[in-house]
Amino acid sequence: EFVNLNDFVSHILNRFDMIVKTDKNKGHKKKYTIKRELGNQALWVEIDTDKMMQVIDNIMNNAIKYSPDGGVITVRLTHSQGHVILSISDQGLGIPRKDLGKIFDRFYRVDKARSRAQGGTGLGLAIAKEIVEAHHGRIWADSSEGKGSTFYISLPYEPMTEEDDWDEV
Ligand code: ATP
Ligand code: MG
Repeated sequence: EFVNLNDFVSHILNRFDMIVKTDKNKGHKKKYTIKRELGNQALWVEIDTDKMMQVIDNIMNNAIKYSPDGGVITVRLTHSQGHVILSISDQGLGIPRKDLGKIFDRFYRVDKARSRAQGGTGLGLAIAKEIVEAHHGRIWADSSEGKGSTFYISLPYEPMTEEDDWDEV
């Protein structure tokens, strides 16, 4: 399905603005703010929307789950020659450098005790990687312990020209 990635991401984030997440440890509402830096250009990509929503959901849920109360999550959409990049940054616990390559492995969780207390299986990012790679894209993370993490998804993108519009008529 062809979607405007800009609208698609907006809709998912609007849903997160509505949902109340509960802190599994403390049992109270988890507060967070989503900052959008999506630009206003339509970026048309062909994706499996259900699957890509699952990817973004997991990264957003992780950003919330592994951040203290009141954190800001910044979601940015950029594009350059041949691809779009969606990045999701949090101000959470961060991920040790030695674990950065492993978090995309099945069942891998950085601090087993910490992660278990937060719930989940450790499959989210492994599934995300499979889905993104099935779209010929890439997924990776960057992090600074104690400061936060950024997850990046890049997808192939060809700008549409007016000629393309005519071809489809
Ligand atoms: P599931 O997604 O299956 O519910 P999960 O969130 O633990 O469980 P993944 O989404 O695959 O599993 O993430 C793997 C591990 O990577 C997490 O357990 C956590 O240790 C680490 N991690 C993922 N995202 C973040 C983040 N934003 N900040 C800090 N650590 C993270
Ligand atoms: Mg997860």
